[in-house]
Amino acid sequence: MKHSFYCALFAGALLAAPVPAAENADKPASLADLPAGTTEAVGQGFAEPREDGVLRVLIVGSGDAHNFPRYWLQMDGETLREAGGIDTAATPNLDEALELLPQADVLVFSGNHRQYGEARFQQALNAFADQGGGLVMLHAATWVHPWEGYNSRFVGGGSRGHGFMDVEVTVKNTDHPVMRGVPESFTITDESYHHEFEDGAEYELLAENGPDDRTRKPHASVWVKTDDKARIVCITHGHDARAHENPAYRTMLVNAVRWVAENGE
Ligand SMILES: [Zn+2]
Repeated sequence: MKHSFYCALFAGALLAAPVPAAENADKPASLADLPAGTTEAVGQGFAEPREDGVLRVLIVGSGDAHNFPRYWLQMDGETLREAGGIDTAATPNLDEALELLPQADVLVFSGNHRQYGEARFQQALNAFADQGGGLVMLHAATWVHPWEGYNSRFVGGGSRGHGFMDVEVTVKNTDHPVMRGVPESFTITDESYHHEFEDGAEYELLAENGPDDRTRKPHASVWVKTDDKARIVCITHGHDARAHENPAYRTMLVNAVRWVAENGE
């Protein structure tokens, strides 16, 4: 009796809830309260069956000096899902990232954990790009990392220092789809990475940070890293909640995800 009573309750809850049939039952309500530096598995996956026209976006991030679960895995995931037509899965765990990446259309990456230097992750990243997968590299992903070949292909250089303040950002290419709906200049309270392109890097500059409290010259903050096979957008913004809540950041993130996914269409 007890068993069937609870089954009836459960069935009633399912019928009452306005959840699409494809909603992934394993997706936790929130990753925001996980330990900031966690690399534990979280069990997320993409909705099955896949709905026509829905983009699958994998958000991968973990490491130090940032709350990756709260700001990237959770908040950026919400931003993307709220934009519509986007399903997300997110993980700070390397094995989960490697399992989910082949199922994704777009990878949103921001991490500085040494696990991302493992050959199996770098090989998967290159294979994903070689197959035309879209990549959006956020904040810590655009730092200089000791991962062989990574900065050259996916960033076109990197940052070794930053300021922190109310940064004035100027859009340098208002016609690019990633900048659609973004004010021509805006302020963001954030770390301002001192990005430097490496010699010979091919890129298209989309926005730059003005001088900050530690440097008198502007630095690129959003650009397309030119690649023969993949679309790659780098955004140096995103240190904490003040950046991830910024409407311009949110618009650029959504635009970038959609644009990198259009490769070859
Ligand atoms: Zn930071």
